[in-house]
Amino acid sequence: MLAKRCCNVSITAIKGFNDILPGEVEKWQHIEASARDVFSRYGFAEIRVPIMEKTELFARSIGDVTDIVEKEMYSFVDKGENRVTLRPEGTAGVIRALIENRLYAADPVSKLFYMGPMFRYERPQKGRYRQFHQIGAEITGIADPKVDAQILTMLRHLFDELGITEPSLEINSLGCPKCRPQYRETLQAFLRNRIASLCPDCTRRFDTNPLRVLDCKVERCKAATADAPAMLENLCPPCAGHFEAVQEFLQLAGTAYRINRRMVRGLDYYTRTTFELVTGLLGSQSAVAAGGRYDGLVADLGGPAIPGIGFAMGVERISLLLEAAGFSKPADLFIVALGDAAGKKAFQLMCRIQRLGFAVELDYDGKSMKSQMRRADKLACRYTLIVGETELATNRAPLKEMATGSQTEVPLVPESIVLQLQR
Ligand code: ATP
Ligand code: MG
Repeated sequence: MLAKRCCNVSITAIKGFNDILPGEVEKWQHIEASARDVFSRYGFAEIRVPIMEKTELFARSIGDVTDIVEKEMYSFVDKGENRVTLRPEGTAGVIRALIENRLYAADPVSKLFYMGPMFRYERPQKGRYRQFHQIGAEITGIADPKVDAQILTMLRHLFDELGITEPSLEINSLGCPKCRPQYRETLQAFLRNRIASLCPDCTRRFDTNPLRVLDCKVERCKAATADAPAMLENLCPPCAGHFEAVQEFLQLAGTAYRINRRMVRGLDYYTRTTFELVTGLLGSQSAVAAGGRYDGLVADLGGPAIPGIGFAMGVERISLLLEAAGFSKPADLFIVALGDAAGKKAFQLMCRIQRLGFAVELDYDGKSMKSQMRRADKLACRYTLIVGETELATNRAPLKEMATGSQTEVPLVPESIVLQLQR
């Protein structure tokens, strides 16, 4: 027998987990379709990996003393006593799949992209959620700086395609295991005298992950580290050469960028080139996309020593920018019909024109002209066609372009109407 319900309080979604409703979803589809289109021009294939992995995969790749692993992961023990985690990011799973399926054996160069939900236990606010969505791309197998420039150019290209040109591309280098330990000491020596001015998190980071102090959003930490030495001035010659070459290829590609000496990414696996696409329109949620090179990650996760580079972008934040850019996806045509015979004609025209590839609407049970016009207004279609008795008799009807108000008379023939809609 079913347990008796004790009350009728409705059940809501979990905090920070959102429904993506019609109206919003069209923007997501547009972002996803544009990403598929642009990525395919650069030779990327889609990969779909599980949304849950063994906890140790993220601890080992992202790093034990990062915000994600320390504070933000949805980790739990399942019924079989396995320690599992809802993925907080995409790269770790993709690289695990690359190694497990030996994708590098068939082709030493892999270009993969993914899209899907990620989970981080953060304080929800505009542009920051607990379930959020990323689209990301990874290239493994090439250490050449052309690849860094190529992936950055592809990222910029996608945003241009979406009509989002405001964000700026910032780049930096985090060096490699040869030069970073030395820099870490130089930075610690600088911070030692200023430790009293740092926030509690940064006081802790001083020992565990001093580079992250440069990334702290707290004002007094920013002030205390304003003239801190930068990794960029402490790169070993091969890393410095790589960074120079990346810039040369970015210039050849015509991809605008600026150097941000203070950028440190929140994941441990980055080496050399790191980058962010930064917007001024979303308050403190300023990064819309971010990534970097990870030449040690594949080996760290038990694979061969092959280099990699990738990025991830936040779909929710891109959608907010798309909205600010005035994105809309109206249907092509609304048919207003007056009387039963016109109603049948409108229905037939709608069915035919939909098959010809256009989005058509009508008011299924619209009685009065006024209520149909109201519906046409609400749906904000590009064109409106009005069919009444006279139009049926002459087999011609007025087609109005809503944005300009201009009107043309068209034969009531699907192909003739479509010719106008294509303009
Ligand atoms: P932030 O500094 O805003 O916390 P991050 O450095 O943690 O970002 P990454 O791990 O680099 O972000 O993830 C790449 C992108 O994913 C970000 O640039 C952002 O667009 C998006 N993103 C990250 N966390 C969230 C979140 N909690 N909600 C929505 N989008 C997110
Ligand atoms: Mg974060």
